[in-house]
Amino acid sequence: MKGLIDRYNRKITYLRISVTDRCNLRCIYCMPLGGIKPLRHEDILKFEEIEEIVRYSIDWGVDKVRITGGEPLVRKGVVYLVEMLAHLKGIEDLSMTTNGILLKGYAKDLKNAGLQRINISLDSLDANKFHRIAKAGRLSLVLDGIEEALKRGLEPVKINVVVMKGINDDEVLDFAKMSRDRPLHIRFIEYMPFGYKGFAKEDRFFPTSQIEERLRELGELIPAEVRGAGPAKSFKFKKSLGTIGFITPMSEHFCATCNRLRLTADGKLYPCLFSDYGVDIKTPLRTGAGYREIKELFEEALKNKPEKHSLKGNNQVMSKIGG
Ligand code: SAM
Ligand code: SF4
Repeated sequence: MKGLIDRYNRKITYLRISVTDRCNLRCIYCMPLGGIKPLRHEDILKFEEIEEIVRYSIDWGVDKVRITGGEPLVRKGVVYLVEMLAHLKGIEDLSMTTNGILLKGYAKDLKNAGLQRINISLDSLDANKFHRIAKAGRLSLVLDGIEEALKRGLEPVKINVVVMKGINDDEVLDFAKMSRDRPLHIRFIEYMPFGYKGFAKEDRFFPTSQIEERLRELGELIPAEVRGAGPAKSFKFKKSLGTIGFITPMSEHFCATCNRLRLTADGKLYPCLFSDYGVDIKTPLRTGAGYREIKELFEEALKNKPEKHSLKGNNQVMSKIGG
């Protein structure tokens, strides 16, 4: 059947699936300390429902799936979901984004279940600052999770760092150094001033150009290739085992090549991270919709995929839509 192509001729090949809205951290830019009102259990897509949606979407051209959240590793049985998706013929790239807190205990099973690669979010290498940002968990747990992911061959292991002015911008050199003698792929992400309103402040934005300027101290950065780099521009220092990537949603958006749709834990399909409107897939699925009807719902979401993202009026909560 015909693939998923939007009004601006962008072909959709990538589905990001949030499997829970819950999280074991409370990152200052993402969630309020008290958490957010959780979805009701019965409103969350079952693994079989996710599998059905993915199975259909493969037929429409999707070959890349990322499992995210909330924190995906707090969803009970998530390894089983990985196994279900890994078995679907046509999925070429299966990955996960996690905060790494529980990863040490999961990396082996995730790899055995068919997860190919992993992105671990980490915003500070200082234990106290880690706690000031994440409000829970411990830095050492994340570092252990990173080691275990490397050991178990989840490859490549990427470290996502959201850089915030006055909070962790002083750590960019320390993060960059991690890419020199370990096969770690450090990705500096520009903080987007949206989401949890208690923190979303324009003056936390720290542009990639300034990160690049700081990194010059460590030597010349040469262009590099990394699997599944997506919108990141990748570089490396000569002789480094890992790479450095820059993701610039604010200073240089990459909407022209956007190939993704997002499915939330409660079964809404969002055409863009910045969309306020998601198409409900869950209710039709639970009332008998099949292949053809679900395709129509995907097409409806596509009709609303904006040419470029706009921060105006964005009310998204990252932990819900899946960062
Ligand atoms: N809990 C998992 C984690 O933290 O990796 C997955 C979900 S989290 C919402 C996904 C990613 O979104 C994380 O790397 C997080 O740092 C990023 N993120 C959340 N809010 C953000 C913001 N306002 N600007 C930039 N990145 C953000
Ligand atoms: Fe949780 Fe990820 Fe949001 Fe942090 S960024 S609060 S780890 S969902």
